[in-house]
Amino acid sequence: MESISRREMLKKIGVGAAALAAFPLVQPVFGLKKIDETAPATGFVLPPLPYAFDALEPFIDAKTMEIHHDKHHAAYVKNLNEALKDQPDWLSRPVWDVVSHLKDVPEKIRTAVHNNAGGHANHLMFWESMKKGGGGKPKGELAREIDKTFKDFDSFKNQLSETALKVFGSGWAWLSINPTGKLEIVSTPNQDTPLMDNGRPVLGLDVWEHAYYLKYQNRRVEYIAAWWNTVNWDAIEQRYKAARG
Ligand code: MN
Repeated sequence: MESISRREMLKKIGVGAAALAAFPLVQPVFGLKKIDETAPATGFVLPPLPYAFDALEPFIDAKTMEIHHDKHHAAYVKNLNEALKDQPDWLSRPVWDVVSHLKDVPEKIRTAVHNNAGGHANHLMFWESMKKGGGGKPKGELAREIDKTFKDFDSFKNQLSETALKVFGSGWAWLSINPTGKLEIVSTPNQDTPLMDNGRPVLGLDVWEHAYYLKYQNRRVEYIAAWWNTVNWDAIEQRYKAARG
């Protein structure tokens, strides 16, 4: 149980206690929209990219980052707000909470919310999973768990790369904690996220063509190989620890 002071503190920073009870550890991981329970719902917001468009050069080019963030991610946010425009209660929930409770969304807007809330949540995580001068390997607790689960880092890297390569059409490959608490590699179609299956995504790789087509055209395998040089392992380790509790 939360102590009163923690609950009060969380209320101050705008995190609903009920939502925390339902999904206590994912929200701080995303750095998602902070909500004020007393304020009218104003909708979801696209945060700025946490680094310059060219920060991930030469692995991911500036133009791709600009279009990916300013056009594609922006469209998910706009369409999500549009779908939920008559649903102030849903508009005021953090997006990770929305994607975790899709079955409760009114049926006529459920598909639009599914796709666009998924797109918003996935991209928020994706930007924060990369940085200038990224790459290398994880350290600490996550590194140990990866070794335990996948034999070693290279085996893990190969398996995630292979999974990403095999995604048919548009989708994602993930390192995720499954509901039994084990690390696993999974793929999701479209903008689905492991959150929709009660998992806790740790690291996601976007293999929609919009993530790589300008620089790599059809060469997804080259994009995947390059992408490993952008991974922000410190952020992933923090996300892993937060998701683990
Ligand atoms: Mn994308």
